[in-house]
Formats: sequence, C-alpha cells, structure tokens
Amino acid sequence: MSDINVRLSSMVEPVDLLIEDAWLVATMDEKRRELAGGWVAVDNGLVVALGGGTEQTPAAQRRVNASGCLVTPGLINTHHHLFQNMTRAYRPMTSAPLFGWLESLYPLWTAAIDEEAVYLAAWVGLAELAMSGCTTTTDHHYLHPARAGDLLAAEIQAAVELSMRFHPTYGSMSLSVKDGGLPPDDAVRTEDDILAESERHVNRWHDPAVGSMLQIALAPCSPFTVTPDLMLRTAELAERLDVRLHTHLAENSEDDEFSIAQFGRRPVELYEDVGWLTDRSWGAHVVRPNEHEIIRLGAAGVGIAHCPSSNMILSSGISPVVAMRDAGCPVGLGCDGSSSADSASLWQEARLAMLQGKLVSGADQMNARMALEIATRGGAACLGRTGEIGELSVGSVGDVAVWRLEGPQIAGVLDDPIEGWLRCGPFSATHVFVHGEQIVDGGVLTNPQIDEMLTRHRQVAERFQPKS
Ligand SMILES: [Zn+2]
Repeated sequence: MSDINVRLSSMVEPVDLLIEDAWLVATMDEKRRELAGGWVAVDNGLVVALGGGTEQTPAAQRRVNASGCLVTPGLINTHHHLFQNMTRAYRPMTSAPLFGWLESLYPLWTAAIDEEAVYLAAWVGLAELAMSGCTTTTDHHYLHPARAGDLLAAEIQAAVELSMRFHPTYGSMSLSVKDGGLPPDDAVRTEDDILAESERHVNRWHDPAVGSMLQIALAPCSPFTVTPDLMLRTAELAERLDVRLHTHLAENSEDDEFSIAQFGRRPVELYEDVGWLTDRSWGAHVVRPNEHEIIRLGAAGVGIAHCPSSNMILSSGISPVVAMRDAGCPVGLGCDGSSSADSASLWQEARLAMLQGKLVSGADQMNARMALEIATRGGAACLGRTGEIGELSVGSVGDVAVWRLEGPQIAGVLDDPIEGWLRCGPFSATHVFVHGEQIVDGGVLTNPQIDEMLTRHRQVAERFQPKS
C-alpha cells in the first residue's frame, strides 16, 4: 500500500472535493509523478490525498469527473501589470521597442488612473487569467500618482471577490524625466514616501502563513525609473520585513545602454551592487544577461519571470531560459502587462516558452513537461512557496486546473496528454479550483458579475484612450 493510502485510511469524514478518473494527473511534485486514471482529494483548501486509477478514492461531498482530462496544479503568473488592459491594442501606442512604447503610454496612464480603474482592470484581468488555468498571480503595480488613492487596496479587493491567490507588489517609480529617468514628473513619488508606503502595505496585507491567499512583495520598477539608493533601501526593508523583492531586469539593449550611461554598470552588476543578488528576489524578463552574469544569477538563486510574448512584441529578444535553469535559477512564467503582451493566457505563454526553448537551445532542451514545470513549480520557487503552491502533493494547496482534451485540435493524441496539451490547442481551462473553491466551471467564470464588470471596464478604458 502506498504512503498516500496510509493517510487515506485515517480519513473518516468525506473530503470536500474529489477530482477523479483523469486521463492523467501531472502532479509536478518533487518526483514529478504522473498518475494515469488519477484523482486528487481536497479538504479545507488543501490536498489531503491523491492517487492513480488503481488506488482507492476517499468518500467525498463533491465529485468532479475528469475523464478525458489532464489535471495539473493551477498555473502561476510571476509578472504582470494588470492596469495596462485599459490601453490594449491602442492605435496611438507606438510600435517602438520598450522605451518609446513606455514614453507613449506613461502620460495616458498617469492622467486616468484611479482606484476604480485599478479595481476594474484587476477584476477583468484576474478573470482572464483564471480562465487560462491560473490560480496564483502577482501584479507589478508601479504607478502610484499621489492623487490616485489606495491602488493596492483596490486591486486586492478584486482578487478577494474572485477568490484568486494574489501576490501584488508595491511597485514604485522615483526617477522622472527631470532627474534623467523615463517617466513623467507627475508619475513618481519621493523615496521616503515610497518606503513608508511599502512598509504600511506589508503591515496591512501580507500574510506569511501556509496556504496564504495574499502576500506582498516590494518592487521598484526598473533601473530607468528608480535610483540605486531606492533599490538598496528597498532591499534592506524587504530583509527587515521578510518579504520578497521584484523588478524588471536586463530587459533589452536600451536597458543595457541606459544602465551603462547612467550608472557605469550593466544591469546585473547594478542589481548585485544594490543588494538584490539573492534568492529573496525575482527579476522580470532577464533577456540579456551574459554568460558570466548567468552563472552569478544562478549561484545566488535569483528567480526569473520569463515573459516570452512580451519579449517578442517589444522585440527585446529571447531570454536564455534553459541556460539560467541549468545555472540554478528558478524560472517561472509571466504574461507581462496587457498593453505589451497583450493577451494574458498562461497556457499560451507556456507554449511559447516551449517553442522558444527549442528554437534557441535545441529541440531536446525544452519540452512540454519542462514548460509545465516553469508554469507551476518554477513560479512557486520565484514566489518563495515551493511545496505549497505549483504542485499537487499531500499538504499543498488545493489549486487545480482541469483541461478537457477533446475536439479536432486534440484528435490523434493518444500517447502523451502532456505533450498533446501544449503542442495542440489552443486550450482554456475547463475547471479551475483555488484553495478547493471552484472559480471556473466548464470554461465559464463562476462569479456572475463578469458581464457587468466588462461594461464598466469599457467605460473606464474610454477615459484612458482619448480619441485622436
Ligand atoms: Zn513588466
């Protein structure tokens, strides 16, 4: 009898939820076990047992038939800017690389952003993510004009209403055009103000407990929007408060050139000099580290939020993900902001991670299992929650995505449902559970407010997009 069923025999009460009879359960646990005909039992928000088709299932209050389905841990999004869905595919947005693209949008965002906009952007953006199988997401919200209100509280409200596991960051910008930075003067805050707000938000919201639904990280935006001194002081504050650190890192050639011209150092050197070369931090994009920098990042255990769509749309390049994983970096997946990606489908990002990995590192260096690992375990490691999220094992949270593999796009897939899931498609998740609670049912959001929220989102988006 397996250790799983030893635990099962001690269960006397029916569990809350049993997802059963799957084509395959890809646990992504320490041993990467795959359970044919498998099942997952969730009680009080946690996985309490799981097994293969030949192993006895527990009694359950609710049973979900997953026949013909791949069952995976809920996917994890490690980098996003939810508010940017207010300016998606907006024609006056330039087609320039990162810096010109940002400069065309900063004034529109800064003028229109407020609590209502951030709440609606988060609500709709989190719904979109949930439908792509995502159960935990970060948000790098760095735009906090002094007049705009409590924007972190606004997006947290949306996550609570949708029952998404949320890791928002208190982002910041302090280096405006007048000081040699990129954002306009009215988009930035003073550094003392930023540090005080960072501490206030951590104290108010951050829950470090096992199974936590809400954790806060600190996130100066990038080397071209904050000073090295703010990076240093933020790292010290994160250490004192025991929270994680996040920022954009080595995103494109403009980023390199700015860092060398302004600070006399490459972005990864600057990252190290301001105390960020630590496993407390994870960086977004990391497209342009050189060979020596990859070794240093890996040795320190710095996490990487890999954002393949955004890196291609902004023509930043292809991140050396295989090399960084080999060097020791935890690599997670990010959809990046909705004005650069502009889609927020983690399934799509996982597929692109697989394709890019094959393209730049060799066909045998990346496959669907590695991409699924990046989208789950890798993300958990970036967020400091290995063993808790991003895997299905006894004691992990009950965050589960169920993918029905049927229809013309999957016809002919008989042998390997994981490769079939990521090579074929496109797929949206059929059912999604967070902490045992169902948030997507049959491909539809369970929260009935979606139509109302889309209407309100459109009204506010019109405020962001002045007619030319
Ligand atoms: Zn970003």
